[in-house]
Amino acid sequence: MVAVLLLNASYEPLAVIPKKRALSLLLREVVDAATEEVVALSGSATSLEIPTVLRLRRYVNVPKRGASWSRRAVMRRDNFTCIYCGVQPGSRQGGRMLRHVDFSVDHIVPKSRNGRNTWTNTACACSSCNNRKGNRLPHEAGMHMLWEPKTPRVDYLVASGDIPEAWKLYLQM
Ligand SMILES: [Zn+2]
Repeated sequence: MVAVLLLNASYEPLAVIPKKRALSLLLREVVDAATEEVVALSGSATSLEIPTVLRLRRYVNVPKRGASWSRRAVMRRDNFTCIYCGVQPGSRQGGRMLRHVDFSVDHIVPKSRNGRNTWTNTACACSSCNNRKGNRLPHEAGMHMLWEPKTPRVDYLVASGDIPEAWKLYLQM
């Protein structure tokens, strides 16, 4: 299940926090709901619902920290969508249903050509596109990227499941 996106008073995303911590912030009245979208807090006797986006009442000054790169985080950032053909798990390709295992991280500039593990050089690709591209640049393989890979504004590692609709507004996705 999804966690909660915490925004600064300026609406800048600060972090993805666990639901329990979100509840504690709400109880301490240091945050306000920034969306109508709610998520249920499991494990509680009464069914508590927490907004999926919270905003701090007072601005906090935080040093800028880049989200840490990992293969898993890239897949999450791209929501398991192939950057070249747009398929996702559940899409049909060549008469069969694609699964999560059919997707992997593609290096836009291939590793064999000194492409690095960075947010802007990596994206989710289906195995078919990944194989087709091989050790080439997209334009060399006659392939086009459907979007430009960007460095995310918050750490995706702590988020699990799909990114809630309400977050996208703030994450510029
Ligand atoms: Zn593809």
